[in-house]
Amino acid sequence: MKIRSVDVIPLQVPFEDGSAGTGLMPTKWTKLDMAIVRIETTDGVVGWGDGFAYMCRRATVAAIEDMVAPLVVGQEIQDIPEFNRHLQQRLHLHGRYGITTFAISAIDIALWDIAAKQAGVPLAELIGGTKRTSLPAYASLVRYTDPELVRSFTAKSVSEGYETVKLHEIALDAIEAGRKGAGDKIKLVTDVNCNWSLEETHAIMPHMKRLNLYWVEEPVFPPDDAETLGSLQEQYGVAIASGENACTTVEFERTAPKIKYIQPSVIKVGGVTEFMKVCDVAEKHGSIVMPHAPYFGPGYWASVQLMAAREICEQFEHFYIQPENYLDADIPLPRDGSVQVPNKPGIGFEPDTELLDRYRA
Ligand SMILES: [Mg+2]
Repeated sequence: MKIRSVDVIPLQVPFEDGSAGTGLMPTKWTKLDMAIVRIETTDGVVGWGDGFAYMCRRATVAAIEDMVAPLVVGQEIQDIPEFNRHLQQRLHLHGRYGITTFAISAIDIALWDIAAKQAGVPLAELIGGTKRTSLPAYASLVRYTDPELVRSFTAKSVSEGYETVKLHEIALDAIEAGRKGAGDKIKLVTDVNCNWSLEETHAIMPHMKRLNLYWVEEPVFPPDDAETLGSLQEQYGVAIASGENACTTVEFERTAPKIKYIQPSVIKVGGVTEFMKVCDVAEKHGSIVMPHAPYFGPGYWASVQLMAAREICEQFEHFYIQPENYLDADIPLPRDGSVQVPNKPGIGFEPDTELLDRYRA
């Protein structure tokens, strides 16, 4: 493929989640920031991608426009993984991870979308074959803090057919309320987003065992301290998950041998290319991939295709909020706790251009 253009579309899509809007993010959070990339080839094939942009939209957009796009426009690209490696090498002076890799992720996803469209197949077919057409999904709730809200939203998601529910609660009373709302049979998880000190973690982990948590996510800072995470998992017999903030396989090579679940995020880790390599790392070390996907743009669609092709991925993360609109109304949302894999060429994402105009930031 020869690249004619790379365009970046910054968006803000309002959403509702039933919470007070505080807790997960540094400020009150009511809009989903997105940095969408549209790549067009000289023969007119269009590919879509996005880079992580929550609370960093302008930085991610600038990184794509100023750092990555100039290395992409006009290029003849035959081998996407090799091109991804080339981008990483050319940009390593800006730091190997974080915003730089979010920007590379956006480009990589769009290139894979184009490659699959050129082949006339869904991405899953191109990267190894569609191994499954239905994916188990879990409800990923925001942090409500108020135990009664936690109980009622957990019960609501279970009534909709989810068999696994992830809280983002950090206080024991809220996590206990989640267990009450879920009942005993549901797989319950909490994502701590690194909020506990090591001392607090040691105090609360016996309760996580008592409440039969399916995994505890990013309990302590830093989330890439594989030794500490591994020792917590071993000491308390509760699975630990981490990896949404890790980029490239280099970081997963450290955590995969120590913890049960690793969590690459396709719009952060380095795109489809690095996500697939992380699946290889998980297979090598006997860990399981639990993809991070709390978003609704091209990364959502790419995650579905990756999971269809790679059975090492256990469950699809569905962010349990209500965006004002979905950019592509055909988005395969979970029904009765599972996502049906679309059978469209590429990643399948075809946005409504009127909505791209409406939400342009
Ligand atoms: Mg998380």
